[in-house]
Amino acid sequence: MAARLTESTPIQYIKGIGEARAAAFARLGVETAGDLLAFYPRAYEERGKVVSVASALDGELCSVEITVRETSKVKQLRGKLNVFRSTVEDDSCVMEFVFFNMPFMAKALTKGRRFRAYGRMKIGLYGREMVSPKLEPIIENKPLPYYVPIYRISPPLTQKAIYSAVNEVLPLCDNLGELLPESVRIKHNLLPRSEATKLMHRPSDKESLKKARRTLAISEIAVFRIALSGMRSNVRQERAFPMGLKNTGMKHYFEQMPFELTNAQKNAVKEIFADMSQDTPMARLLQGDVGSGKTAVAAAAIYLCVKNGFQACMMAPTEILATQHKKTLDKFLSPFGIKTELLVSGLPAAEKRRVRQGLADGSIDVAVGTHALITDNTDFYNCALAVADEQHRFGVKQRKALLDKSEREGRRAHMLVMSATPIPRSLSLIIFGDLDVSILNELPPGRQKIETKIVNKDDSDKVYSFIRKEIESGGRAYIVCPLIEEGENETDRRAAESYFEELSMGALKGIPMGLLHGKMKPAEKAKVMGEFASGEKQVLVATTVIEVGVDVPEATVMVIENAECFGLSQLHQLRGRIGRGNRRSVCILVRGGGNDDSADRLAIMRDTADGFKVAEADLQKRGPGDFFGERQSGEFSFACASIGDVSLLAETDSIVNDILANRESPEYVAIIKEADAFLERTGDGKTVN
Ligand code: ADP
Ligand code: MG
Repeated sequence: MAARLTESTPIQYIKGIGEARAAAFARLGVETAGDLLAFYPRAYEERGKVVSVASALDGELCSVEITVRETSKVKQLRGKLNVFRSTVEDDSCVMEFVFFNMPFMAKALTKGRRFRAYGRMKIGLYGREMVSPKLEPIIENKPLPYYVPIYRISPPLTQKAIYSAVNEVLPLCDNLGELLPESVRIKHNLLPRSEATKLMHRPSDKESLKKARRTLAISEIAVFRIALSGMRSNVRQERAFPMGLKNTGMKHYFEQMPFELTNAQKNAVKEIFADMSQDTPMARLLQGDVGSGKTAVAAAAIYLCVKNGFQACMMAPTEILATQHKKTLDKFLSPFGIKTELLVSGLPAAEKRRVRQGLADGSIDVAVGTHALITDNTDFYNCALAVADEQHRFGVKQRKALLDKSEREGRRAHMLVMSATPIPRSLSLIIFGDLDVSILNELPPGRQKIETKIVNKDDSDKVYSFIRKEIESGGRAYIVCPLIEEGENETDRRAAESYFEELSMGALKGIPMGLLHGKMKPAEKAKVMGEFASGEKQVLVATTVIEVGVDVPEATVMVIENAECFGLSQLHQLRGRIGRGNRRSVCILVRGGGNDDSADRLAIMRDTADGFKVAEADLQKRGPGDFFGERQSGEFSFACASIGDVSLLAETDSIVNDILANRESPEYVAIIKEADAFLERTGDGKTVN
């Protein structure tokens, strides 16, 4: 028990941590003392910024320093509820504290004692009041901290328990090895890692907290980028099936397509074909705004692959999308005798068995599916091209699983990832640093411009009559809500289920409507989607499940309720569901609330049609967190970087380039080792020099 505390000491050996608390820590991903050091607060209460009682505004979250005048007896209310009040004061004013169900506190609040209290000021008929403020006794010569850290908690862990546990492990900071050499730290004005870690938990002031966060964010991003570049070198060392253009009828294929490719598409095809002709596997990202025609590019790659005698597969994040891709691929490929099969979990078991059998014995050339495609019981005969759609939902791990699946005679499939989320360049290095990139920065000709309007919730009647008019003239409408069902405390945001009921009984009565959300079974979703696509249903009330890829050219109206709740890139994705046919399309952003900042963001949507510009604005406004998707939540959480600001990315860029150019330098041993450890955790082996 009294063994020396090290970074690898299991959390339950830390003073004050029993079995139940250790289990709660484990749920938060903290299993060792070292994990706890890296378990940075999610926020800080700025309790050191003390205001006078008289100057605090109604509703303000603030700190006051008060003296207790008198405390009432604890009063029993109905049921188990009890309450007591304290009258307190500072030089400026008298006020009341109210405590519900905290009878033990009454003893502490004796006349004349002084506290720093943190809570929400309420100014009512009978004066000023705080309900259950957080109290810290003011003791002479013992200054209270300016910032109080707030950690993520899981019961029975409390803030207090985590605070004391962190106190126990803080001395370990002194043994933390440095990742970045001193020369880099000086050049970029960074703190030693030990100091930065300590300051994250116990910041003394705003400036030092900022610097600590910057230090840790930069090393976090650097480690991740170095790891990705290692993965890229690993892929380069693998072998793939090289493909030739000879005797594939490629020229004829392009001539037979229903349209001419845009220049951007032609370029992308050229880059992809060049990759596929190599005997090292392609690892390429095809990035293009919604509607830029990524599927047509992928279809050409699949055609080339099949004509070279290999199988190809395509993965989509949802069954709806997989089903839709199958249709699109059939349109492009079936005239050339290439049949595409669907493999999703919603299929009858016998059908799945048949497709899997065909993939294993080579009688099926092309399969489109969801993750089910990479589960253990699917084997390929000779898959040489794997296309993953909407990559930001797939992590490195899934991608690797798919590649492993395709391995045959020591060769792997070429990999093409498609993403419809335009990602600012500075971020794409982080998110897709292991991929080469082709960009479709041009839309096919003849697209209708989408008009975007912002309206207030109060103007909903106009929106409804507009929808009616559109439908009478042959259009179809999506109505997107931020929630599926109404939750407690959720009176201001629309929920799809109840809004669907409300509209079908009321404002849109008589119009055939469908409801679509993520909690429905795949078969139900496919049915509703099919009905909307065929025109049987003319309005679709949905959640963001329709965000990616859904393609119904007749849809001309996109109404987004509580638009202020969504990120810009997400709004842009949703808007991309319309304007796909030859009719004029209108996107209506309904504001249900929000502040000036959200009004600014919506104005960007109204004024900008280009996805890359929208993404750039989103990054500036909301920070990089939204873009990380899978990588943020699953594989590598950027404890510091996701809150960091955008300028960090550029700064890290120069550091990383330096490190990668001088990998052998002894100065960089530590950070490269850290990157190796990261790769090992994701199962991709060591970085290659
Ligand atoms: P993305 O996946 O990039 O959002 P899609 O591949 O779904 O876009 O293409 C959107 C629509 O544009 C499809 O209906 C497709 O058939 C059509 N399309 C693609 N390329 C062209 C082109 N070069 N000319 C005309 N229409 C095109
Ligand atoms: Mg698409």
